Amino acid sequence: MKSTRRRLLQTAALSPAAAAAAATGNLTASSPSPLYASLGIKPVINGVGVVTVLGGSIMPPEVIRAMEEASRYFIPLPELERKVGMRIAELLKAPAAMVTCGAASAITVGTAACLSEGDPAKLRRLPNREGIRYEVIQQKSHRSGYEHQMELCGAKIVTVETRKELEAAINEKTGMMFFLNKADPDGQVKAEEFVRIGKERGVPTMNDAASDATPKENLWKYTAQGFDLVIFSGGKALRGPQPSGLLLGRKDLIEASYPAMSPYAGIGRGMKVGKEEMCGLLAAVERYLKVDHEAEYRELDRRVASIRQALEGVPGVRTERHVPVIANEVPHVKVLWDESARGLSSQEVVGKLRDGDPPIHIQRPGNGQLLISVWMMRGAEHEIVGRRLKEIFRA
Ligand SMILES: *Cc1c(COP(=O)(O)O)cnc(C)c1O
Repeated sequence: MKSTRRRLLQTAALSPAAAAAAATGNLTASSPSPLYASLGIKPVINGVGVVTVLGGSIMPPEVIRAMEEASRYFIPLPELERKVGMRIAELLKAPAAMVTCGAASAITVGTAACLSEGDPAKLRRLPNREGIRYEVIQQKSHRSGYEHQMELCGAKIVTVETRKELEAAINEKTGMMFFLNKADPDGQVKAEEFVRIGKERGVPTMNDAASDATPKENLWKYTAQGFDLVIFSGGKALRGPQPSGLLLGRKDLIEASYPAMSPYAGIGRGMKVGKEEMCGLLAAVERYLKVDHEAEYRELDRRVASIRQALEGVPGVRTERHVPVIANEVPHVKVLWDESARGLSSQEVVGKLRDGDPPIHIQRPGNGQLLISVWMMRGAEHEIVGRRLKEIFRA
């Protein structure tokens, strides 16, 4: 382990201080990166949260160590896949589990399993609909933007709004019912009723909870609720490898999902999960269950308070602490002002932050509004964000 670390550090040619920071996974956007510099890429301060376009999350040392060790051996991959799946299922109180190539790939292989009903001949035929229960029912408010992941299996999405419409839509062609966890407050049919209808009518239900691994009890909440398949991203709150995801649920459906994904030829052959990702995600799950989330939460609250304090007394600007009801349920800062009164748009503020050094990426939910996630900030990055915002609003 020691020699591994030394080798990693030599490769990166870091200063002793940066090397110490690297060992604790505590580099910031300002830490020198010869690699990214050689590519002409400037690391950014992540004020958006765990999002794929900024690189997901930062893997903790435990995860990197597991990936490094996994990378040094040949192993029978299908055997590793099963063993890791069994271990994760045990840890997350699920009947069965498998590591996928991101949450999006979990949607695809899970859909393939439901549509083919565990029949290898049917699985091979996908996306051909002949002899397949190819309809997937989804509430209108549960559109996720990830419908393509189901459609590439040949699924036809049937959209409903009310409970009555949902019940009427179920027929002999229905293969699955899709639920977007974070849309639960918006949908007319809530999780429990959705699951009940699925069970009554013999249709498997899938819950996409990719961004909803906080609080950690959510990792077993939805399988306990009765969803047949539940999905989480591996590279978001869990801080596993970015191209990893979790498919949890019914044993027979997980069993039917394995042959839908790489290394088997078929619909998911392009969704390869390496030995490094499998072992990395397992280490990430083990770590996540041990983290003191309350202490982490308090640290996030300190960062929120620091940014709000920096903007105190700036005329016409108001701040709020904001915790989403569901999905990324951690403290954020909201900044609010009247654009016309100040002659400054939220688009301009976002642009100025991005053009600065180091660049800062945040979201603008609307006019005169900024949403800042402090979750993925490191070191004193929240102080830089507070200072830069104050400068922009004071200018
Ligand atoms: C992020 C996300 C996905 C995709 O997750 P990946 O792990 O990047 O494939 C799917 N569904 C929802 C709701 C998400 O938030």
